[in-house]
Amino acid sequence: MRLTFAGAAGTVTGSCFFLETKGTKILVDCGMFQGLPELEVRNTEPFSFDPAQVDWLILTHGHLDHLGLVPRLVREGFQGRGICTVPTRDIAQVMLMDAARIQEEEEEGALYTVEDALDSLDRFSVLVEYGEEVELGRGITAKFHDAGHILGATFVEIKGEGKTLVFSGDLGNRGKPLVEDPVYPPKADALILESTYGDRFHPPLADSVEELRRVIVETLRNGGNVVIPSFALERTQEVLYILFWLWKERKIPRTKIFLDSPLATQATKIFERYTERFPEPARKIFRKKEDPFDFELLEYTLSKAASKKIAEEDGVIIIAGSGMCTGGRVLYHLRANLPRPESSIVFVGYQAEGTLGRAILDGAPEVEILGSLVPVRAGIWRIEGLSAHADQEVLVDWALHADPGQTFLVHGEPRALGALAARLADHGYSVHIAAWRETVEL
Ligand SMILES: [Zn+2]
Repeated sequence: MRLTFAGAAGTVTGSCFFLETKGTKILVDCGMFQGLPELEVRNTEPFSFDPAQVDWLILTHGHLDHLGLVPRLVREGFQGRGICTVPTRDIAQVMLMDAARIQEEEEEGALYTVEDALDSLDRFSVLVEYGEEVELGRGITAKFHDAGHILGATFVEIKGEGKTLVFSGDLGNRGKPLVEDPVYPPKADALILESTYGDRFHPPLADSVEELRRVIVETLRNGGNVVIPSFALERTQEVLYILFWLWKERKIPRTKIFLDSPLATQATKIFERYTERFPEPARKIFRKKEDPFDFELLEYTLSKAASKKIAEEDGVIIIAGSGMCTGGRVLYHLRANLPRPESSIVFVGYQAEGTLGRAILDGAPEVEILGSLVPVRAGIWRIEGLSAHADQEVLVDWALHADPGQTFLVHGEPRALGALAARLADHGYSVHIAAWRETVEL
């Protein structure tokens, strides 16, 4: 077997792995590169394989950096079949239609159209559940396991030619409110492992919830706003769930909470269809007909006019996308609140190199937003325990269960990759940090 690292090699975005077996060619994810301009330019470069030759496209989950280039793949000749879980199919629909609309608004260099996105959604004809195995032909099988990352996310075990390969996809953090913990992988001859937080340790969720509570209470007391740049999938729903509990137990004062993201609103509707998949106690809460996605403080602002009116409010909580502040309505709220010392910006997810979110987190004294220079005077917070990604401890523990013959580290920035490689080497494993477009024989 031959494996080509067509993306997410040396970086966290653009996940794409091309596996050639004797009879079948498989692509695991086909994600968009995001962040630094020198990365984003890769979205327009020719694929390092022929899309027409790919028989199967396995989609581990619905984040854009794992599926964002699927419409381009289809446009450039992919004729094969797509496999993913049922929730991932629903999520893919929302994410790809949104991405295609953004692409169509680009003045030049649009990667694909809404029509391409619709075509690509038709390709996902094989829908699987956790634990299910799919015959890919010529003795090759793919089995899907719960990655505990976001709703519907999987890691994939591919067997064939006497070998077992495990692609981690994105691995979840443990103890999350709305997704189960990741299950352990089987013994693997080769492990392709994500490394997003390979150099970090997350605090327990309870500590992070308490930190969020404190920031909210203090900010509201000072008359400022709490702006939470949030990813539409999972993180937004988790933040809503946590705010619901904080309010239910009266641990935060009465205030308005705006969910100012049409995409996150659509995503939340998908989550409402799958509440039976939530771990306890979330599942129970939804069964009781209490709705953490629709409680008295919460307001969904769908129209642009409703979004603009938020600026007239003070002492409110605003959840808006995009999560890394690279676009979307959060930009308006940042422009309004960054100069205000009484306001707080709370980051609850990964901020890739080159994004506005990363610049603010790294302490930039001023940033450029929508063409104007904005001084950063607001309180800046990073709440790590809400991360959707496993930290070093979970990654190492998980990898040790795979007891891999070979390990390839992907989906990480150089520091995280290096730190995780060193830890795994301490345990006696030979580790290779994959390079972009590198091909290895397995
Ligand atoms: Zn992800």
